[in-house]
Amino acid sequence: MKRPVLAANWKMNNGPTAARAFMETFLGGYAPRTDRTVIIFPPAVSLSTVSSAAAGRTDVVAGVQNIHWAEKGAFTGEISAPMAKDAGARVVLVGHSERRHVFGETDAQCAKKCVAASRAGLAFMLCVGETIAQREAGETERVVTHQLREGVSQTSNLISADFLLAYEPVWAIGTGLTASAGDASAIHTLLRTQLRQMIGTRGDEIPILYGGSVNADNAASLLRAPEVEGLLVGGASVEPSSWLAIAQTR
Ligand code: PEP
Repeated sequence: MKRPVLAANWKMNNGPTAARAFMETFLGGYAPRTDRTVIIFPPAVSLSTVSSAAAGRTDVVAGVQNIHWAEKGAFTGEISAPMAKDAGARVVLVGHSERRHVFGETDAQCAKKCVAASRAGLAFMLCVGETIAQREAGETERVVTHQLREGVSQTSNLISADFLLAYEPVWAIGTGLTASAGDASAIHTLLRTQLRQMIGTRGDEIPILYGGSVNADNAASLLRAPEVEGLLVGGASVEPSSWLAIAQTR
């Protein structure tokens, strides 16, 4: 995947009708680019709409916000990796802070979702990040290292797995607070070192995105920070004009 990676997490916004209108406006203003990748994570009901709209664009791909680790079965309300792939997803978001902290998703469940994504031929984007209490207790490095190591612990042959990481401090998500470029860089550097320990030079190929109250005004300075190779954007990605500005960040 071409770096930088600019990823839009719409959360629970933009159903099929709004998604169609968004994609029309966004793609109308976003000429194909070979110097970056855009990923749109719509709600699952809008996945087909987004992937169909982006058909023929190799620089814009659709992703799914969540999957269940089983392939099918009696799991009312869930969707599986093969189903998401069938609807056009190429990437799965795993361990987003809202999944972890609102829905109680554990590291063990994240690990199973990473396996399920790889098994279905999808890339996964594993999200890690500390809470404010953990940050104030000086536990950031321990927490993100643990989440990374546990998250990929069940993925066999990690060296050939297709995956990305997103560092998203929980205290920065949807709060208007953003990590400084220096703070983001420091954690990204730590994650890069971990990746190198786990999979050698392949670790240099894994994009590490920053997320947490990114907007059109702060995107450029974050993207210039060493080891920040992309952005995962929530609130500011829901409207096409704001997202267009972020996706075109220099
Ligand atoms: C997110 O949903 O991943 C996110 C970072 O949200 P926000 O940009 O709204 O903080």
